Amino acid sequence: MPPRKRFGQHWLQSDKILDQIVTAADLKSDEIVLEIGPGKGALTRRLIDFVKVVAIEIDRDLCQFLVKKLGNNDNFVLLQGDILSLDINPLIDNFPRFQYPTKVVANIPYNITGPIIEKLLGTISRPSETKYKSIVLLVQKEVGERLTAKPGSRDFGALTVRVQYLADCELICDVPANCFYPPPKVDSVVVRLTPRDIATPANDTKLLETLVKVGFSSKRKMLKNNLKSLIDVDKLEQLLTELHIKNEARGEELGLTDWVNLSNIFPNNKE
Ligand code: SAM
Repeated sequence: MPPRKRFGQHWLQSDKILDQIVTAADLKSDEIVLEIGPGKGALTRRLIDFVKVVAIEIDRDLCQFLVKKLGNNDNFVLLQGDILSLDINPLIDNFPRFQYPTKVVANIPYNITGPIIEKLLGTISRPSETKYKSIVLLVQKEVGERLTAKPGSRDFGALTVRVQYLADCELICDVPANCFYPPPKVDSVVVRLTPRDIATPANDTKLLETLVKVGFSSKRKMLKNNLKSLIDVDKLEQLLTELHIKNEARGEELGLTDWVNLSNIFPNNKE
C-alpha cells in the first residue's frame, strides 16, 4: 500500500519518538484515547498496550489492513470516516465496553491541522463541550512553534491567542523529517495541549475573536494600524496607555491577558 499524498500519509518510524508521544500522554490504564489517523498502526500498537483506543481513519484500505492486524484486540475500536465530520461520541455508544475518550493522541495529516484543533478545542466564542484532559499531537514544526509561542516572539500570532485562550500549550520534542516514511518536506514537533478554563475570560468572546483576527491581519504593521478599521487611532492609543501597552506595539507584543483586557475595554459598536 503506497502512502497516499491526499491523506497526508507519512508513517512514523522512530521508536524513540513513538515512546516520547506515549509518555507525553501520561496514560492511566482506565483512560480511553482517541487516535486520529492510525495509518498502519505504529502508534496504535503502543497505545493499546496501556489503554483502550478509539481510532478514526479515513482511508478504507488502511481500515481493512488495521482490522486484519488489530481487529482481535479488545482495546481497539476502529471507526472509518473523516475526523472533521464524524460525531464521535454517539458512535461509541455502539461499543458497550468503551466510554467516551478522555485524551487524544495523534500523528495528524498536516493539511487539516487547523480544523482538527478547532474540532477538538472549539473556538474562543464556542469552546468545545467535550473537554479532553490532554491532546498530544504531532504537527508541522512551524505550526507547533506558533501554538507554543510566547508573547514578543516572531511566532506569536492569531493562532497562538486562539488556542492558548482554550488550552495550555507545550512543546514536547522535535521530530526530524527523516523519522517518517516517506519523509515530509518539513520538520515536525510533538505538542501537548491541555484544555482549561481561562482565568480571566473575555466579556465578549466574539469581539475578542474579531480583534485578534484584525489585529494580526498584517504582521508587519503596528496594532493601531491594523485595528484602524474598528476604532479611531487616538481612542486606541488611549486604551493602550490605560493597559500600559506602548502605542507602537505590534500584535505579538501583547500577551493573552492583554488581548482579553483590550477586548474588555474596547468600544463595542453593537452597544
Ligand atoms: N498514525 C500513523 C503514523 O504515525 O504512522 C499515520 C499518520 S499519517 C501522518 C496521517 C493519517 O491520518 C493517515 O493514516 C491518513 O490516512 C489519516 N487521515 C487523513 N485525513 C484524515 C481525516 N480527515 N480523518 C481521519 N483520518 C485521516
